Amino acid sequence: MNKVELVVDSKATLGEGPVWDHKQSWLYWVDILGKKIHRYDPITQINSSVDVEHYVGAIAIRESGCLIAALDDGFYLVDFESGQKTFINDPEEERKHNRFNDGKCDPAGRFWAGTMEIDAKKPNGALYCVDVDFQVRKVLDDVTISNGLAWSPDYRSMYYIDTPTQQIVAFDYDLERGEISNKKVVITVPIEDGSPDGMTIDEEGMLWVAYWNGSKVVRWNPQTQQPIDIIHIPAINVTSCVFGGSNLDELYVTTARTGLSEEQLKSHPLSGGVFRVKTEVRGTISARFKGSR
Ligand code: CA
Repeated sequence: MNKVELVVDSKATLGEGPVWDHKQSWLYWVDILGKKIHRYDPITQINSSVDVEHYVGAIAIRESGCLIAALDDGFYLVDFESGQKTFINDPEEERKHNRFNDGKCDPAGRFWAGTMEIDAKKPNGALYCVDVDFQVRKVLDDVTISNGLAWSPDYRSMYYIDTPTQQIVAFDYDLERGEISNKKVVITVPIEDGSPDGMTIDEEGMLWVAYWNGSKVVRWNPQTQQPIDIIHIPAINVTSCVFGGSNLDELYVTTARTGLSEEQLKSHPLSGGVFRVKTEVRGTISARFKGSR
């Protein structure tokens, strides 16, 4: 059975967006509502953080240095050491009630990130792509809570989650152009199990989906549309996961405290922590942002 260990007792408000730095062997992750980017070093077991003073939906490591971050006032390059921010673009200058949510790099090094209304009520969010020349395109509209990106190991499919739909959808993916088409629903999560939030993919093309209000990560086969494995996490709101470790066989899982009652926080005191579990399969690498100008 998969043994789950707590690696950072961070008590994050909304821990999210884990990214594995395969060169430094560090785990980056964010606390969206805590306005912090975190970095955990599994060797020293030290977790350090930088306050970015804005809601930070997602980050990715930039190949040529710094991080790219989706803050509530747009895309920035962020230097983790100094906290210095360099503005790139704000595609939603007019949508003051929105913030960025999950984001990730595609295998070609573009940075994808989606938005949501802060109160998550209406489908006023969208999905954007930052190309390697720093141009920003809107790719999807009418999204309520943009979440869970993953690309298949053959790069031909992109998986996506708009959480309130309870669905994981697949698009055909054009890696060269960074374009999606031919949307189809591959998984529908029963609401009593929780709601699909962030996800990652392993080298066999199976999806590992974090369940908000579900205390688990579920491994799904998107081809047969069957669940294959369940990892129980001692937190109710499980938000995202990524593979790390030198062999990419350690799944790091983020969680949140927001939305929980006093009672739930008492019964799940580790909520908001970062967890790790050894897996029998290897994951895929966290792609880096290849933007330069
Ligand atoms: Ca999320």
